[in-house]
Amino acid sequence: MLVVKFGGTSVGKPERMKKIANLVTDMPGRKIVVLSALSGTTNALVKIGEALSAGQPMAAETEIAILEKHYLAFVKELYESSSYQAIGEEIVSRYFSLFRLLAAGKFDDRSYRELLAQGELISTELFYHHCQERKINARLLPALHFMSIDENQEPELGKISERLKPILETMSSANLLITQGYICRNHRNEIDNLKRGGSDYTASLIGAAIRAEEIQIWTDIDGMHNNDPRVVKKTIPIAELTFDEASELAYFGAKILHPSTIVPAQKYNVPVRLKNTMDEKAFGTLISEKGTSGQFKAIAAKDGITAVNIKSSRMLLAYGFLRRVFEVFEKHKTSIDMISTSEVAVSITIDDSQQLDSIVSDLKTFGNIEVDKNQTIICIVGNRLEEKEGVLKDVFQSLAQVPIRMVSYGGSRNNISLLVDTSQKEKVLTLLNEGLFGL
Ligand code: ADP
Ligand code: ASP
Ligand code: MG
Repeated sequence: MLVVKFGGTSVGKPERMKKIANLVTDMPGRKIVVLSALSGTTNALVKIGEALSAGQPMAAETEIAILEKHYLAFVKELYESSSYQAIGEEIVSRYFSLFRLLAAGKFDDRSYRELLAQGELISTELFYHHCQERKINARLLPALHFMSIDENQEPELGKISERLKPILETMSSANLLITQGYICRNHRNEIDNLKRGGSDYTASLIGAAIRAEEIQIWTDIDGMHNNDPRVVKKTIPIAELTFDEASELAYFGAKILHPSTIVPAQKYNVPVRLKNTMDEKAFGTLISEKGTSGQFKAIAAKDGITAVNIKSSRMLLAYGFLRRVFEVFEKHKTSIDMISTSEVAVSITIDDSQQLDSIVSDLKTFGNIEVDKNQTIICIVGNRLEEKEGVLKDVFQSLAQVPIRMVSYGGSRNNISLLVDTSQKEKVLTLLNEGLFGL
C-alpha cells in the first residue's frame, strides 16, 4: 500500500484538487491519501484563535467571514452538478457554524485546538465528495479514530497501528482512503495536533504503522533542494538522500518536511519520496537507506535559536559538571540542539525558549551565564564527511568574512553545524552555496 500526502498548495485551488484526484487514481494499488488544509487556512484559523484568545470577537468574525467567502467560491468551482454544489454549500455552512459556535463560547486552549483541526477536516470532506461526484471508489478514514499522542506529545505508533489495521479491513472494498493530516487526539482524548506542518508527520506515521511500500510527500517544489529556496536564488534538487541526511535537514529547518517526518519511516525502513504536484514528471527526491556519495549534499537553516553560555572556574577538571548542567535542561523539559565546550565554559543552544528564565536562574548556581538570542543554526549535510579531506577547509574558506558563534562537527558522520547571528543567515547560505556547490 502507498501513503500519499498532499500539502496545502497541492489542494489549495479547485483545479489542483481535481488534479490530485487524477494523480491518485492513476497510481496502482490501494493507497491512503493524507491531505493538509487548503493553503492559508491554518494560518487564518490561528489568526481567528488568537483574536478570540485576546477577547476580540469582532476581529475574529472579520477573519471568519473572509475565509467563508473563500470556501464558498472554492466549492462553486470544485463541483460540477447542482446537487454537488448544494452538498458543497452545506459542508461550508456546517463548518462555519461551528467556527461561530466556538467563537461565541468560552474560548480556552481546548477550543483553540478544536478550531485548528477544522482545516484538515473540511479539506478531506470536500475532496471525498469530489471523488463521489466522479464516481471514484473512495472512503473517508477519520484520523481522530486512530492518530494519537501521549502526555509528552509523542505519537503512539504502536497504538496507531493497532487501531488502524482493523479499520482498514472494514474498508477493504475501497482502493482510495482519504484521511486528515496534522490532527490527532491527546492523552486526555481531546482534539490536538502534530504541530505546524504536521501532515508530513501523519503520512510517515501511517506509512510506518502499516509498513507501507512507500510514503510520498507531494508539494509545490521538485524535492529537497541543496539549499533553502526561500533565501537563496539558485538551488538545485537532490535526487537521493539517506534517512539520516534527510532527517538532519528536516530537523534543522528544511521546511519541505516537518522536523520529525523521517523518524517513523526510518524505523521501519519505508522509503519516502518527495514529489512536485505542479510538475509530476520531475524526479523529486528519494529518501531511503541507500545513499549516494558526494561531498556535500545540502544546507538548511533553523532560526529562533538561543545560545546559553555557562562560564565556570569550577568546571576545570570536574567530572559530573556536564551532567548537572544537562539536568537543568531536562528539569525544564527543554531539548538541546548544539553544544560546545572548553575547560572553563560550555555553550548550549535551544530552540524552545519558553523556560529560559527558569533555566538561567538554575544555571546561575554554576557560574556566570550569558544569553544570545536571535541566533540561527546552519546545518551542512553530507555523506561520511569525516572520511573526506578538506571538508572543514571548504566550509571555513567560504565563510572567511563571517563571524561564527559556535561550531559542531563529528557528532554525526554527516553533519557540520554552525551557529551564527540571524542577521548573517542570508549571507552565510549564499556564500556556502557558492563555495560548496559552485552555484
Ligand atoms: P506543503 O504545504 O506542501 O506542506 P511547505 O510549504 O510546507 O509545503 O513545504 C514546501 C516548501 O518548503 C517549498 O515551497 C520551499 O519554499 C520550502 N523549502 C525550504 N527548504 C527547502 C529545501 N531545502 N528544499 C525544498 N524546499 C524547501
Ligand atoms: N495545515 C497544517 C499547517 O498548516 C498542517 C500541514 O499543512 O502540514 O501547519
Ligand atoms: Mg508542509
